[in-house]
Amino acid sequence: MFMTAVTRTPRAFEDAARNLLDSSRGAAQALKAEFRDSLLARGHQQQQLAAQARDIRQKNGNNQLLVRASLEFSNYCRQQCSFCGMTRRNSELQRFRLKPAEIRQIIDQVADMGITQLHLVAGEDWQPGKFLEKPIQYATDLGMETTLAIGQRSSGEYRRWREAGASRYILKVETTSEEAFNRARTGTKLFRRVSHLLYLRSLGFKIGSGVICGLPGQSVDDLVADLLFFKMLQPDMVSVSRFLPNGQSRYAANPEGDQDTTLNFVSLLRINLDRPDLRIPSGTTLGHRQLDGLLHGANLVSFHATPAQVASLYSADMIHTREMKMMSDIRRLSEKSGLILPEMFLRSRP
Ligand code: SF4
Repeated sequence: MFMTAVTRTPRAFEDAARNLLDSSRGAAQALKAEFRDSLLARGHQQQQLAAQARDIRQKNGNNQLLVRASLEFSNYCRQQCSFCGMTRRNSELQRFRLKPAEIRQIIDQVADMGITQLHLVAGEDWQPGKFLEKPIQYATDLGMETTLAIGQRSSGEYRRWREAGASRYILKVETTSEEAFNRARTGTKLFRRVSHLLYLRSLGFKIGSGVICGLPGQSVDDLVADLLFFKMLQPDMVSVSRFLPNGQSRYAANPEGDQDTTLNFVSLLRINLDRPDLRIPSGTTLGHRQLDGLLHGANLVSFHATPAQVASLYSADMIHTREMKMMSDIRRLSEKSGLILPEMFLRSRP
């Protein structure tokens, strides 16, 4: 029925990816020591770090709270990542796949709410990518910007989706430690995943990536290396999730990632990446500290548009209820963080 795909990019992109990873590992020791101290900052030192990140965001004119409608349309996956509950080894998980007409209906609903950012998310589903073209075109015609986070796919599929109107693509590396990566992921290699990011950028996509803070086997120095990697890659979006053990994954028995280290990572991204319009989400893995994510330099939150009857079936970590579903929650975060929401959201229904 399906294979664990090894999707390749042209050789030049693989070479460039290897060079990028090598260069980031060879960064100056002084910078590594500075990042290490900042990741471990607590108390007053941590507050100063967060304030510096907010200042930079403000100076860049980045004072809006961006809202994306996050729609998880399929939990089928051909991979077996060790941290994920949707691994194909999980035979207990009930699988779902929304139809294009259902996706279009949800796009209509979120467009009516004034949301212009559509975030289409899925496992590494093996169904042919052609089926996504119509929903992407539909969203584009409504004036929405579409981001895809649907795994490592073929170069032909990337091109089709770009031509259909998708403008952003997210491929998280999760870690730039080869050892931790190889334990956590299947069906790819670290350099190959990075080569896909470079290839996507060459097609005109704005690219996003991300890491998991607290991934089993990861050290603070690995997180430092991740930061140095992003500083060299200069993606348009970066996320840092906190590791939460999913009970149906291989990493079920491992401890949660540290919240403060995760927040400090957010601040360091904001301070060190030279992109005024850098998007950093404050995600649900921060739990009740999503506001802190914004106070540490993030500028993006998700409105969860996945239908309630399937939302609990989409879970890479152990979250089964979303912290934030309502516009009223987003408005509250805007008020408390000082980040401004577009006028339309202020008027829209809860
Ligand atoms: S992390 Fe993504 S690719 Fe890996 S098993 Fe989960 S859904 Fe599949």
